[in-house]
Amino acid sequence: YNDARGPGKGGIRFHGEETIDTVRALAAWMTWKTAVVDIPLGGAKGGIIVDPRLLTQTELERLCRGYMRNIAGYVGITQDVPAPDVYTNPQIMAWMMDEYEVLMGHHEPGVITGKPLELGGSASRVDATARGGIYTLREAADVLGIDLNGKTAAIQGYGNAGTFAHQLAEELLGMKIIAVSDSLGGIINNDGLPYDETYAHKRNTRAVAGLAGSDAITNEELLELDVDVLFPSALENVITAENAPRIKAKISAELANGPTTPEADEILYENGVYVIPDLLCNAGGVTVSYFEMVQNSYQYYWSESMVHERLDEKMTNAYHALHHMATEQKVDNRVAAYLVAIERVAQAVRLRGWV
Ligand code: GLU
Repeated sequence: YNDARGPGKGGIRFHGEETIDTVRALAAWMTWKTAVVDIPLGGAKGGIIVDPRLLTQTELERLCRGYMRNIAGYVGITQDVPAPDVYTNPQIMAWMMDEYEVLMGHHEPGVITGKPLELGGSASRVDATARGGIYTLREAADVLGIDLNGKTAAIQGYGNAGTFAHQLAEELLGMKIIAVSDSLGGIINNDGLPYDETYAHKRNTRAVAGLAGSDAITNEELLELDVDVLFPSALENVITAENAPRIKAKISAELANGPTTPEADEILYENGVYVIPDLLCNAGGVTVSYFEMVQNSYQYYWSESMVHERLDEKMTNAYHALHHMATEQKVDNRVAAYLVAIERVAQAVRLRGWV
């Protein structure tokens, strides 16, 4: 979408309902996201219209290799660097990297990020999206004067972002997660759903539904629960003008890309729901992807604690820049994120002499 600040960056999505327009929109969002956290990258995205859950492992591998053969001319560490997104994971990144290196005849692990640790991945890349979101939530709660310890949360979506948000909200913030959902439905227990049990159940049965001691709930009901924090962590457009008036959470921490429609945004703002916008909230993933590229470039790998420290610094600074902008300009956090990001991209475009 735009590479004025650096090589294109963004994930590859495998989804049955993927469209070229969603990929375009997400590439634009990646441009603003990399600018919000101030990393020297542009915005890009990729996608395949497929439900990977219907494929065998061999079919999935062939699809990944075929996709890379077709995009190999457009990617590279100085050009465009893909990563995981909806229904793509480290194994998929490994196959794609291998195909690229076979084609090129040399090692270039930095062609793709989110790789397994054994193949040049970064420590903590796997939980980086959720971890970055938790750091911004911690900062937001501090500004709002809320002590999150013992407070409740609901998580819509139980993929990479949602599962690690569950674990880290418990572990780092002491929160109580009372409801979670995935594409097959949701569960609730007002006494809390412990991460270990919920995740083990999801791993064993491929669904959160049916966890012992929980009651069934729909995805729609989950979004409207009276919780302190809501984590929309699945797909775009789940909070709309229709359900926004009924959202009761005090904070919506957007781990998904684009979960709130523009009409819903206005309603949430008027109703005092504090939104930590996707451009900031889920930017931990791409930030650690950037760290992965850096480590790949100099072939020297950081410890987990070093990644955590540097991610925390990036997310904390980005949150406060955005909060400052929102307060100064008297706008909601999403508009503030765009103001910060667009100014940075515009400056790069101006300095290059493109406009
Ligand atoms: N897919 C993630 C996102 O939407 C990560 C992108 C990346 O690491 O390049 O931000």
